Amino acid sequence: MRDEVYEGGCLCGAVRYAATGPVRSAGWCHCRICQRAIGAPSVPWGSFFLENFRWTKAKPSLHHSSDKAERSFCPTCGSSLTFRFLGSDPAEIDVTLVSLDDPDGLRPQWHIWTMSAPSWHEYDDGLKRYQDNGPDRSLDPDLPSPLPPGR
Ligand SMILES: [Zn+2]
Ligand SMILES: [Zn+2]
Repeated sequence: MRDEVYEGGCLCGAVRYAATGPVRSAGWCHCRICQRAIGAPSVPWGSFFLENFRWTKAKPSLHHSSDKAERSFCPTCGSSLTFRFLGSDPAEIDVTLVSLDDPDGLRPQWHIWTMSAPSWHEYDDGLKRYQDNGPDRSLDPDLPSPLPPGR
């Protein structure tokens, strides 16, 4: 995968970021914590190495959504921007795919925590589903690419 730069930011434009590939993976999370944090039934995330990620304008506010994870959001407009497992090795950071300037730049590869999906939420897109957090998906050769066709 190319070392493309993925730029994005919040609704009001105060908080901006740049993440350089390789993209680790991308997928939907349906967990209760994401649901409450974002206010939506599921959230598409894209994962990068933390060392390849930087804030390029104002810094976001941080919230520990559990003792193991930290989320960031814009203190002005509230946009949710990143998720990070504090103990992950190698260190990674996930960005909300639709906060990217080009929301078509990365594509979800799977669904996790489907046990929390509300019954009215339809997501029958043919992607692999895991009831819980699932296996280490960065090593699964059967998943589709997170890059759009032709990239
Ligand atoms: Zn903002
Ligand atoms: Zn989640």
